[in-house]
Amino acid sequence: MIDASTTIGPFSRETFVQILKEICELFHIAKGVTEFYRSPGREKAGEGDILIDHDNGRGEKEVLKKRVNSRTGAVIIGTLYMAEEDSLDEEELEKVDLILRALLSFVGRNRMIGAIEQLGFYDDAMYPNFRSFSRYLEKLQDTGVIGGYTAVRYNLKSFSVVNQDIGRANGDVAMKRYFDLVKSIIDEDGIVCRMGGDNFIAVFKDELTRSIVEVMRGIPIVYDKEQRRRVTISASIGLYNIPADFGQRDLREVLDCISAAETVAKSAEAGSVIFYDQMLKKRKEDMMRIRHLFPAALGNGEFEVYYQPKVNVVTGQIVGAEALCRWIRDGRIIPPMEFIPVLEQSTEICDLDFFVLDRVCKDLAHWLKSHDHAVRCSVNLSRKHLIDADLLEHVLEIIDRNGVPHEYLEMELTETTTDVKFMDLRRVAQGMRDEGIHTAVDDFGMGYSSLNLIREISWDVLKIDRGFVPLDEEGTDSITYKMFRHVVSMAKDIDLECIIEGVETPYQIKLLRENNCEIAQGFYFDKPLPREEFEKRLQAGKYPLPE
Ligand code: C2E
Ligand code: MG
Ligand code: MG
Repeated sequence: MIDASTTIGPFSRETFVQILKEICELFHIAKGVTEFYRSPGREKAGEGDILIDHDNGRGEKEVLKKRVNSRTGAVIIGTLYMAEEDSLDEEELEKVDLILRALLSFVGRNRMIGAIEQLGFYDDAMYPNFRSFSRYLEKLQDTGVIGGYTAVRYNLKSFSVVNQDIGRANGDVAMKRYFDLVKSIIDEDGIVCRMGGDNFIAVFKDELTRSIVEVMRGIPIVYDKEQRRRVTISASIGLYNIPADFGQRDLREVLDCISAAETVAKSAEAGSVIFYDQMLKKRKEDMMRIRHLFPAALGNGEFEVYYQPKVNVVTGQIVGAEALCRWIRDGRIIPPMEFIPVLEQSTEICDLDFFVLDRVCKDLAHWLKSHDHAVRCSVNLSRKHLIDADLLEHVLEIIDRNGVPHEYLEMELTETTTDVKFMDLRRVAQGMRDEGIHTAVDDFGMGYSSLNLIREISWDVLKIDRGFVPLDEEGTDSITYKMFRHVVSMAKDIDLECIIEGVETPYQIKLLRENNCEIAQGFYFDKPLPREEFEKRLQAGKYPLPE
């Protein structure tokens, strides 16, 4: 038998498309589609690449479909379509059938696989990508040997600084050499792939762990052979020793484990080599439990909105409130710090925030209707919302559906660290203000770009984080006191309403008064209260004040 792959020689994707196009034109075929799946399982799940190689816009009916299984297990499917009024007679159909079959089986056996592989399994810089990694892992699992392997995720330390120091081009060379070094240690029995940027992922035989960790701790890499220039590259690494009984468990578990370990490795206080262990396991289990329980809990009314009053420290009057959510499960209140960071890892936090906003609007509508005690309420919006181009519409829809005047609402947003997010933040904040909704910077002072944030974006309210409020024992000489004084005076100077968070003592109330800062929110007055309790405070209207 003649093997097409050896007789025809190199065969590029362009050639394939060209041939397909010619056949199509010859037989009045309107559209030709090829699908590539790297396994029958992937085909079933619909996870593959669909390439439309020829399309004159008139492909209304399917005239021929052929599928071929490649030696590597990949599935390639070709489908041809024609315009409604065109058709193939029997003889033509036979010819087209034959050509398409030959073409596809050729594709299956030949370098086309390589070309498609290149598209699917490598990134632009020709590093194997995440798909390569997943495929490798699947293979290890299918062959039952995954238990003898260790998976890692690593991030090159300060690589942007390396780029700055030695230049981008040299940085690329250094990154590739470092990659090649890791690859050479792993050798044939494993794989190392790039996840994007300076993030990598690898799996290798357990016994190589020590050598890999050594490289991750830092090693000089030559990036300019002639001048013998070197740069030390190191990485933060999260490792997971895949257990022998891993069996057919979901492979996402491996990814979750190395991601959890790497996150800890990257945090400054931890060492930079972290093995996934019991502590992390517990953390991950808690996380998974929260993720698992959340959707139903939201529907079952397990979430409640508490209100913490904002009080004028001169008159004692309640001037507003912050809505803070509580998860009440089996009689226990789960504080937000336990579940919000978890929900913030996906967009589920957005569902929660919209739920809270809706609840607040319903309460406000009720207060506005039943008595005159309604005050402006603020709602926290997670940063996760910033990528949502329709955020404003969504927020307005909730407020207007409940018929609440916009000035009764305030959105609390936190500072962000990157430029892209900064632009989103500006768009969102401006959009809200244009609609008459108040906007507040939450936890001011705790982020990175504080001053720029209030110069570049117009806000209504600045909420100063409780970390900046002097404690009783901190005198007027303390740095905290001085910073506090100046931040408050700056806020007033640029016409921002200033709210101090975490006010707990009479001394702190006095400080606020002395610095003409009227509004406080904190345990001195009340903790966040269930709605009924808060309504009682609203009706009373005022708090007693210290002398
Ligand atoms: P935050 O927005 O800065 O809310 C203020 C937090 O400070 C609240 O914690 C409040 O109980 C606490 N606090 C208020 N006064 C005092 C005080 O005098 N002393 C002390 N030590 N703490 C005080 P909480 O309710 O546990 O909420 C924590 C964080 O969780 C909030 O910080 C906010 O970032 C987030 N959060 C709460 N509810 C939501 C929500 O519905 N959506 C979103 N996206 N985040 C929320
Ligand atoms: Mg807040
Ligand atoms: Mg805050």
